[in-house]
Amino acid sequence: MYQGFYDEIHEEFRDVVREFVAREVAPDYASWDAAHMMPRRLWEAAAENGLLGLAVPEEYGGLGLNDYRFRMVIDEELARANCMAAALAFHLHDDWVLPAVLSLATEEQKATWLPRFTDASFVTSVAYTEPGAGSDLRAVRSKVERNADGSYTLNGQKTFIGNGISGDGSLVLARDGEGYSLFLVEKKDNPGYTPGRQLDKMGLKASDTAELFFDDVHIPAENLLGEPGRGLEHIKDLLPQGRLALSTAAVVVVDAVLSQTVRYVAEREAFGQRIAEFQNTRFALADIAARLEANQRYIAGVLEQFHAGELDVVAASKAKLTTTEFAKEAVDTCLQLHGGYGYILEYPVAQAYLAVRLMTIFGGTSEILKETIARELS
Ligand SMILES: Cc1cc2nc3c(=O)[nH]c(=O)nc-3n(C[C@H](O)[C@H](O)[C@H](O)COP(=O)(O)OP(=O)(O)OC[C@H]3O[C@@H](n4cnc5c(N)ncnc54)[C@H](O)[C@@H]3O)c2cc1C
Repeated sequence: MYQGFYDEIHEEFRDVVREFVAREVAPDYASWDAAHMMPRRLWEAAAENGLLGLAVPEEYGGLGLNDYRFRMVIDEELARANCMAAALAFHLHDDWVLPAVLSLATEEQKATWLPRFTDASFVTSVAYTEPGAGSDLRAVRSKVERNADGSYTLNGQKTFIGNGISGDGSLVLARDGEGYSLFLVEKKDNPGYTPGRQLDKMGLKASDTAELFFDDVHIPAENLLGEPGRGLEHIKDLLPQGRLALSTAAVVVVDAVLSQTVRYVAEREAFGQRIAEFQNTRFALADIAARLEANQRYIAGVLEQFHAGELDVVAASKAKLTTTEFAKEAVDTCLQLHGGYGYILEYPVAQAYLAVRLMTIFGGTSEILKETIARELS
């Protein structure tokens, strides 16, 4: 990010994160990528370093870090080390599931769940999407039946669920009578909760993404999150943070890729000169640098809205649309400047290209974001 965006306290936090990434993530990342899975020890190490559940208040065992710049520091360091699948896995936990608990849980639920968000004993997934319901969550077919004792029985199927195999449980959206409700569902002691096929993604492979099957899964009454029947409204209220997270991740990745590309073109030669010396290269990189700073300063303003509790779904959608589409274009240009090497997966730019490709799809496709923005205009 640009000079002055972070304070000293963030830079101190960065030292911890950098060491964590160098010691616990980067050395084994390639083998996780090949295995399409990250080990539990990664989560445990993140917990030991205070990097999980950043926003969990101190009374529940967390650090109460509501300043989103701390989350950005984690992303930056993972992006610089070209380990974005770990960033995605942490995002799902900290930016999609945790905010739901923080904003919707009762005091009793918070006391039960929040400490587990920080100590790696409850690695979470967000389970909204189904084979027939992605952009249109009203088409969700998974459903719960209420039992006489107030508990629920869940049946259904989800897909594209990050941390779906490696995780301990999910934030599940299911039909509940005429409406939809949200539940925290644990895998442990629930034989009907079974991960299905591990999906073979283009990129971000170290993060496991899977189908989930729910076959007569028992959900205690106290695992209902928020109001029964209001699950879709709750999801809408949670979208700003998820979309903000993707926006910041997009600018962070471009920042890392731009630096890598500047280094690459300074070394590579063609026609007796460095690639960096061709006017086309200098103009392309200058254009990305200028637009990156515009995006960063825009995001800084969006972050202020978020910190003030004023970031609504339309503003967050505009931010995600702008930054992720920019990232897609900028990383593509950087890949082109690498020539054939840009297409080889051992080069960070190729990995980044695959990572940003997801960003205009996950958390609301660009088309859905435009619909949301356009609705406000009319
Ligand atoms: C790698 C990966 C990880 C994911 N992780 C998770 C996860 O952890 N948890 C989870 O719940 N989900 C996850 N998802 C799902 C993701 O959020 C959905 O893929 C996304 O919301 C789009 O839904 P869909 O795939 O069903 O596409 P569809 O809804 O079928 O859309 C197909 C196309 O039609 C367009 N379209 C749809 N509706 C409209 C409209 N009204 N107007 C104009 N165009 C429209 C879309 O923009 C898109 O271009 C993940 C997806 C991927 C690929």
